[in-house]
Amino acid sequence: MCLLSLYEHTKQRTHFTDIYKTEIKMVEPVIIVHGGAGDIPENRVPAKIKGVKLAASLGYKSLNSGGSILDAIEVAVRSMEDDEAFNAGYGSVLNLDAAVEMEASMQRGSDLQAGCVTLIRDIRHPISIARRVLEKTPHAMLGGDGARRFAISEGFETVPPSSLVTDAALQALEDFLNGGGGGRIEIGHKKDMGDGVSTVGAVAIDSEGRIAVATSTGGMTGKYVGRIGDTPQIGSGTYADDKIGGVSTTGHGETILKVCLAHSIIIGMEKGLSPQEATTQAIDAMTNRLTETAGAITLSNKGDIGMYFSSKMMAWCYVKAGKIHYGIKPNEHNIEDFDVNAP
Ligand code: ASP
Repeated sequence: MCLLSLYEHTKQRTHFTDIYKTEIKMVEPVIIVHGGAGDIPENRVPAKIKGVKLAASLGYKSLNSGGSILDAIEVAVRSMEDDEAFNAGYGSVLNLDAAVEMEASMQRGSDLQAGCVTLIRDIRHPISIARRVLEKTPHAMLGGDGARRFAISEGFETVPPSSLVTDAALQALEDFLNGGGGGRIEIGHKKDMGDGVSTVGAVAIDSEGRIAVATSTGGMTGKYVGRIGDTPQIGSGTYADDKIGGVSTTGHGETILKVCLAHSIIIGMEKGLSPQEATTQAIDAMTNRLTETAGAITLSNKGDIGMYFSSKMMAWCYVKAGKIHYGIKPNEHNIEDFDVNAP
């Protein structure tokens, strides 16, 4: 066999092996969640840790009991949308009209199908509307009144907008209006204006290597009415591709979207970086160039984990192989046994 045909033969065999591996691959299922990157005040740390542990546990149990990959990330994000410790759903931060305007996105890695919503004012779980956009419309993003009408037609209940507003969110807006902070203030953080809030996200992979990602936010305190950030934008807040991996980001939206942060991390992995290297490099490059900070959670298509933040803290948690891992400060990594059958 001449050298050239040997080369072609090897290439074909490698290609065949890759396809074969993709078809039969069995992966250790993982769900990883974040509860937002920023300068989180100490008094909000315990609630955030508790909330991310609950979200990851619920998502993993859903996967383990036969739920789909979309069920797993939806249940995880919904539990954080219900939790006022996070800036998503109930407890979202407020715009300059002292109103909630929420955004969310979801992407399925098998076919890249996406569903995104923005400017949601009176529905408690934006992530569930995003999922419905993904599954039931020919579109990828709906906003404002159109998103609301679509959600109602799908049976979603509206709630009084004021029922989503917490005292902590009102206090944060007051602090913002009194002291500035350029729109970057963590709820409950009065003196040292924080560099972020608490968007939530989930990335999961099932035993067959299917990946999906969900991200949900109230945005930033004191934002203009009608402001749209990174979270509902595929490539910035969320990205999922079964061939490479999945990413959910958090941090300064106007900066994240300028560098398409989630997709930049995916590109790094596509070029051969590990999820940890790709996540660290893309976030550091963003912060070095544009100053503002961010964080991200990442899974490769083998279920390897990447997680990094250039902000002071980011609450994160993942469940993998009978253990639950979590942390919030740099280099903090706690590990406990995880009993999937525990209530
Ligand atoms: N990225 C979100 C936004 O700018 C905020 C956050 O992640 O904390 O809307």
